[in-house]
Amino acid sequence: MTRFFYLFVKCCVVACLLSMTTLSAWAGIRIESPDHVDVGMPFFLRVFGPENFREITFRWQDKDLTVLAVAGEHGREAVVLLGVCLESPLGVQRIDGTVQKGDQRLPFTHEVHVQPRTFPEQWLQVAREMVSPDQSLHPRIEEERRKVRAALERVTPDRLWETPFVRPVSGNISSEFGLRRFFNDQPRAPHRGVDLRGAEGTLVRAFSNGKVVLTGDHFFAGRSVYIDHGLGVVTQYIHLSEVTVQEGQKIIAGEPIGKVGATGRVTGPHLHFGLSILGFWVDPLALLD
Ligand SMILES: [Zn+2]
Repeated sequence: MTRFFYLFVKCCVVACLLSMTTLSAWAGIRIESPDHVDVGMPFFLRVFGPENFREITFRWQDKDLTVLAVAGEHGREAVVLLGVCLESPLGVQRIDGTVQKGDQRLPFTHEVHVQPRTFPEQWLQVAREMVSPDQSLHPRIEEERRKVRAALERVTPDRLWETPFVRPVSGNISSEFGLRRFFNDQPRAPHRGVDLRGAEGTLVRAFSNGKVVLTGDHFFAGRSVYIDHGLGVVTQYIHLSEVTVQEGQKIIAGEPIGKVGATGRVTGPHLHFGLSILGFWVDPLALLD
């Protein structure tokens, strides 16, 4: 009995010491992220720490990311923009990772409850070849898809984006993100960006700082620009009448990159603006004024 009591006390002391070590290791580290996020929505993960806070490494929805801590308003901070893709399972999804503070790697988990969201239907009439393109166009369309996919899946290690973000054109929204689309009565992929109203020739401005990673005149998207903002955040500007930047060019937030047009599969001039995070399209509206 005495021996068991002694063992019990010993275990308590060890547990207590361990938790004190963990507590002191965590001193000054604070994690901020929402507990509930709707399907298709972006959200921020912010980790704040003291002088020896170096970086966070984590996995979110099968994607791995390392984010270096930089000097912030209160000590050091690692800020990352994440998203819940349209195809995400509902319920609890975990951000699992480690915080590096000095030589210590401290494991952390943050639970995000993914909530359902109902998207309305949209029925559009367009030229027949825009719904079922001729067989001869398939290699071109495939090649354009491959280039876009490569642009979206880039994860460059530095965060170039800054808040507040810039609305690319001032016009209001004509088609929301996530609409379940039917072209000439045939079901097609959901709307993976927002359509912003703008007259032909209206200047289109960059969402944030970044680098142009792809431009082109694509079959469905028309004249297009893709900007990499770092840490897996890429924006898309399509159906332009004119592209005024070149691949590889550095861009600052709000800089003009092209003009509103009606090129590609469209029913009239507008800007289709897309926001991709770690390769998945999310609704940019929550981040715009
Ligand atoms: Zn659109």
